Amino acid sequence: MAPRTEGTAIGIDLGTTYSCVAVWRHDRVEIIPNDQGNRTTPSYVAFKQSECLIGDAAQNEVAMNLTNTVFDAKRLIGRRFSDPLVRRDRELWPFKVIAGANDKPMIEVTYKGEKKQISAEEISAMVLTKMKQTAEAFLGFEVKNAVITVPAYFNDSQRQATKDAGTISGLNVLRIIVEPTAAAIAYGISKKYSKVGPKNVLIFDLGGGTFDVSVLTIENSIFQVKAVAGDTHLGGEDFDNRVVNYFVQEFKRRHKTDIRDNPRALRKLRTCCERGKRNLSATTDTTIAIDSLYNGIDFECTLTRAKFEELNMDLFDQCINHVDKCLKDAKVDKKIIHDVVLAGGSTRIPKVQQMLQNFFNGKELCRSIHPDEAIAYGAAVEAASLIRVDNPKIRDMVLLDVTPLSLGIRLAGDVMDVFIPRNTTIPIKKEKRLTTGIDFQKNVDFSVYQGESARTTDNILLGEFDLIGIHPAPKNVPYLNVCFHIDANGILHVSAKDRTSGRKNNITINSIKGRFGKVEIERMTKEIRKCI
Ligand code: AMP
Repeated sequence: MAPRTEGTAIGIDLGTTYSCVAVWRHDRVEIIPNDQGNRTTPSYVAFKQSECLIGDAAQNEVAMNLTNTVFDAKRLIGRRFSDPLVRRDRELWPFKVIAGANDKPMIEVTYKGEKKQISAEEISAMVLTKMKQTAEAFLGFEVKNAVITVPAYFNDSQRQATKDAGTISGLNVLRIIVEPTAAAIAYGISKKYSKVGPKNVLIFDLGGGTFDVSVLTIENSIFQVKAVAGDTHLGGEDFDNRVVNYFVQEFKRRHKTDIRDNPRALRKLRTCCERGKRNLSATTDTTIAIDSLYNGIDFECTLTRAKFEELNMDLFDQCINHVDKCLKDAKVDKKIIHDVVLAGGSTRIPKVQQMLQNFFNGKELCRSIHPDEAIAYGAAVEAASLIRVDNPKIRDMVLLDVTPLSLGIRLAGDVMDVFIPRNTTIPIKKEKRLTTGIDFQKNVDFSVYQGESARTTDNILLGEFDLIGIHPAPKNVPYLNVCFHIDANGILHVSAKDRTSGRKNNITINSIKGRFGKVEIERMTKEIRKCI
């Protein structure tokens, strides 16, 4: 049984565009409004001459302080600067992202008149600090413990980096749980499934920047994830981008001018396109009208729902393909899914709902959970469960999650030797015997990868470590016992031992280049406190 952790624990949905915090209080979950009275807070940080703003105030600044207002940190966190997706995003962001040490992307801003380089972890830590403060103002006391959510499809380094962001913000991260599972908890709790036997549930979670599908069975407070699928770079912002590009072309056609060289004009257009997109969930056409968009030229154009759908149809198709893949991985026929549950702001798009409903042969979709709040809600329930709040609704709750991507070691010839296949229930430990490829080898280096390709070069390198001083012997003779362990946070620990010499080495995949050490985390915590 887990030890009793004192105090209160909050649940935080750290979103690409918006974040939300919730707490279990008075035998139920309460979504906590921020100082503006809003139940979600923009994941924005603005650096100014005199101060640093987070949330609504930062988002309101964006047009005036374009290059120093940072958002989308979740699209950078745990990625490398050379990642092609980072390269693509950089072209769209008004703030500057440069290559730091070890290929780590760093955001460059001017703060109090000085140039400063900040990591995505620090930006996320500032957003988390704001969420922590929001909870503290609401509850009237300091809060340390939190459960933070990540997309199910986040790889190991993205999860680790999110956990680091929590630590930098001064939180004790009780657990990292995945967003669709949190949404399933919110749904399961409200449905009181325990009374009606096992249910197969599909969570369709389409947010601002990420997309997750998850198939679970829920029975007697046991949430067993069968499979997850998704894309950590597919969401509302991608739909906005399509609309922005369309109007950039339209402006060019009308005025023979490309507005792309003007970040301020692009930002104005993006804000209007996002608003237009939201309108199109309720109406069939909307007008994008911007005074003096570029060089004093006004811009006005109608966007129909049909055009919006046409611009994004391949992305919507991708979502449905992921649903299909997830069901196949879970080995569950779509006919035996009891409930299809919507989470994430972008599931308000009528076409997305229609395509999903068609895929399930006309089945009614469950819209009963709040798409913007369900993930924080589920995280708060899990947080209460972890600190052992005594309530019959959560007392016996068990979460059985899966690892989204296969994990393995590189063998000679670029071969991926899978230790833990994707969609394996976690926590899990798997051991294998490996050996040497060269006679009388003294050291062996291990490279740990995550991904589905048979070739490691197509997968993600998580970390490397050496086993030094193994007993020299002809090749293929040494017995090297390699163990992969994924903990309840979905974080990987790898160890290797030479059976003859007894030499051992291990890594939690935090030795990967670019991750922060304890001293650095403490320094960043102090710096953030000075900013806020
Ligand atoms: P989330 O990450 O779940 O907070 O979702 C945020 C995303 O949902 C953003 O990209 C929003 O533009 C999008 N969104 C919110 N409301 C609507 C709506 N009514 N129609 C379409 N998209 C929406």
